[in-house]
Formats: sequence, C-alpha cells, structure tokens
Amino acid sequence: MTTTPRLVAFDLDDTLAPSKSPLDPRMADLLVRLLGVAEVCVISGGQIGQFRMQVIDRLGSTDAALLSRLHLMPTCGTQYYRYQDDAWAQVYAQNLTDDEKVRALAAVEASARELGYWETETWGPVLEDRGSQITFSALGQAAPVSAKVTWDPDGSKKNRLRAAAQAQLPDLEVRSGGSTSVDITRRGIDKAYGMNRLAELTGIPLGEMLFVGDRLDEQGNDYPVKALGVPCVAVSGWEDTADVVAQLIAELSAPVA
Ligand SMILES: [Mg+2]
Repeated sequence: MTTTPRLVAFDLDDTLAPSKSPLDPRMADLLVRLLGVAEVCVISGGQIGQFRMQVIDRLGSTDAALLSRLHLMPTCGTQYYRYQDDAWAQVYAQNLTDDEKVRALAAVEASARELGYWETETWGPVLEDRGSQITFSALGQAAPVSAKVTWDPDGSKKNRLRAAAQAQLPDLEVRSGGSTSVDITRRGIDKAYGMNRLAELTGIPLGEMLFVGDRLDEQGNDYPVKALGVPCVAVSGWEDTADVVAQLIAELSAPVA
C-alpha cells in the first residue's frame, strides 16, 4: 500500500467478520488499535441491529475518545450513527415511503416465485423492511452460512432475481447484497452514496480514505465504492482483512520521516 489514509472504511460481512457473525476477538482488537491512529467507518447493507451484534458488542469497554472516531453506516449510509455522550446515537435516517416499500416487497416476492427461488424451508423472514431498504434473503435472515454457500454458488440466481425485480421497479434500485440477498433502495443508494455522505460529514476527501471490501468485483456490492475512485483493497475474508489492518496500523503509527 502506498497510501496513508486519514479514514479507513470497511465492508462488514465477509470483510470484518463472517456473514452475520460477530467480530473475532483478534479483529476487534485490531479495530480498536486502528481507531488510535485513524478515523474508521463500517458501511454495510445490514441494519443497526447487525452492527450491534457483530461490531458494537465486541468492542467492550473501549475508551469513549476512540469510539468517537468510529462512523457506523447501516443500510449503505442511509443511516448514520456516532458515539456521543456514552451511547450510540442515530445522526440521521432516510427511509423509503410506504408506497415505495409496498411496491418493492411485491416485486421481489413475485419475481422470486416466478423464477422458482421462493424457498419454503427458511431460517427467519425472507423479506425484511429495514426502513431505508427492503431486503430479500432467499433462505431467511438467520440462515446458516453452510446453507447459504450452496444455494447460489456462482451468483447466477441472485443476478437473475435482481434483474427481474429491477424491471418492475424503474424508480427504485435493486442490487445484489450478501451471498443470498437482494437489496432494494432509492435509486443511487449504494455504498458509493454512503461514502460520499461520509466525505461530506467528516470533511475528509474520498482520495484520503481507504476502503476495504470482499466484493469489489463488478457484480459486487462493494464495487460502487471502487467506481467512485476511492482507493480500495480487496480482501477474501476477515483473516485477510486482519493482515491489512495490522499493516495499516504499522504504517500509520510510524514516525513521519
Ligand atoms: Mg461483504
């Protein structure tokens, strides 16, 4: 890496932690150390409940001064949380209208049924209203990773479903999310939207940030950040990310020559 970023932003699932799973203690320790030398953001299609379970609850008794440098952006930055007065506070949330929600839910369900992707054996709800985002999870919100990896190994089901739902929702945006999920938001809401908001909110230019994600391929939900021109590092899981973070801490902690 040749950059010395002022802010390091991370995707959550399969970047900081396995999908829908808590941070490993080693990753939590590295994140806290990184907060000592840079602003840090976590941005994901997931909602704040997942951030609590996967990230916040794993940071234990981290010093408030460090936590105040952590920027949480659930649902691709349509929600924004900061640590203020000893608690995580929602700074803003931009939700879909009731009409947008009803149409999104109907379109993705109809498309899934038509394509034969509407599963009957599921773990938790398939459709979820996340306020600013409607999410379809083929096997349910709580499906185990072992089931998810076999459902759509090459991503073709997700891509077909995405296209079918998008055709019915010209004013909304349908994107593939995690391994078995499709997210529907207002048009132009993706991780690039969140990163642009983050630049506005922090005053840190995009070129002085670094983004770390596992889906920077063109079909991936991290790709819009790369397309935006933010310096990016592609990883293939949290262990890989841990190595990147350890190197960053070393670089950012080194005395300026
Ligand atoms: Mg990911």
